[in-house]
Amino acid sequence: MEKLKNKVALITGASKGIGAGIAKEFALQGVRVVLNYNQDSIGANETVKEIENHGGEAIALQGDISKADEVERLFLETQNVFGRLDILVNNAGVFPPNSLGSFSEIDFYRTINTNILGNILCTKESLKYFSALGGSIINLTSVQSKNPIPEMAVYASTKGAIEVLTMAYAKELAAKNIRVNALAPGAVETEGTHTRGWFKSDFHKQIERMTPLGRMGQPADIGKVAAFLASDDALWITGERITASGGLH
Ligand code: NAP
Repeated sequence: MEKLKNKVALITGASKGIGAGIAKEFALQGVRVVLNYNQDSIGANETVKEIENHGGEAIALQGDISKADEVERLFLETQNVFGRLDILVNNAGVFPPNSLGSFSEIDFYRTINTNILGNILCTKESLKYFSALGGSIINLTSVQSKNPIPEMAVYASTKGAIEVLTMAYAKELAAKNIRVNALAPGAVETEGTHTRGWFKSDFHKQIERMTPLGRMGQPADIGKVAAFLASDDALWITGERITASGGLH
């Protein structure tokens, strides 16, 4: 069923991983999708092709979400192509390990600039484009905001910040009929987790043991929950953190 037919969504960081999974699910539900990417134009364009091959409508747009001028261009180009905006998914994020033992200021600023500043810049810019009917903003957080892995403390703290922003912006934007929710995956198999070396590692086996449903998540698992949060079925939900983790906390 196409519950989101004719809506327009901008998904940040959709060249791969969870963002691409959300884009594909949205397209199945009738959404016209903008897939933002930073460096991976090949991944973004391949996902656009896959969506088009299944009868969906999508475009790929480059833009570094941690830079205000690039964010402005991203939303303007979205408006120029599709003429409206209904859904923003703040998905783009980085998660370099950054333990106290080998702390890197460069990685610290890259993590907060992408994960927190990028979220704020995109949310601020989206307000120029949502119609009087309102909209839905979905912020990707993580189970690590409540149960951090030690060397991921900086990353986990950015997700804690995202959850506070979610609650605050839900209140700030309610009068404009804009709902803001946080979506917290557990461990999901993506290019990002492959790069970290987590897939098929001892850590992977440990995650499977700790997850009641017994496996690592897939981007499609998260896409379905994002589609629910974006839909009118979630009209009475704002300011919440929804966990999608197979029971892992
Ligand atoms: P991923 O496979 O590493 O993909 C990250 C995406 O973010 C890519 O499309 C990348 O674009 C984009 N990106 C990074 N920096 C950007 C920037 N400055 N501007 C625009 N785009 C940027 O990551 P993932 O595993 O799918 O994670 C996606 C989100 O889910 C993140 O917020 C992450 O924290 C969250 N999450 C992931 C997991 C997990 O286990 N995978 C669990 C919980 C939460 P380019 O490749 O084009 O540069």
